[in-house]
Formats: sequence, structure tokens, C-alpha cells
Amino acid sequence: MINNQKSSKKYSCPMHPEVVSNEPGKCPKCGGMNLVPMDEIEKEKQRGKHKGGCC
Ligand SMILES: [Zn+2]
Repeated sequence: MINNQKSSKKYSCPMHPEVVSNEPGKCPKCGGMNLVPMDEIEKEKQRGKHKGGCC
């Protein structure tokens, strides 16, 4: 097995941050929503979806 790549990637549901998996899949809580890599969720957050301070 080649272990050069960092496989510490974690996947989470955008709707359920408490759902964390170390491989892509479906969220058990929504019953089918795709899990998203956590760094992408972070990126979404940093992009500032709610920039107006609405929440
Ligand atoms: Zn979910």
C-alpha cells in the first residue's frame, strides 16, 4: 500500500456538522445527502454566505 498521500481528509454533512466520516458517503441524518470534504465546508464558510450579519 502506498501511504504517501495524506488521507486525513474528513467528510461532513453541511447540515449536520456533528456527522464526521473519514470517507465520502451519505449523511445518515438527512438520509442521503452527500458528505462534503471538511475543507470545502470551511471554504464555504469563509466565503461568507451571510456577510450582512444576518445570522
Ligand atoms: Zn445531514
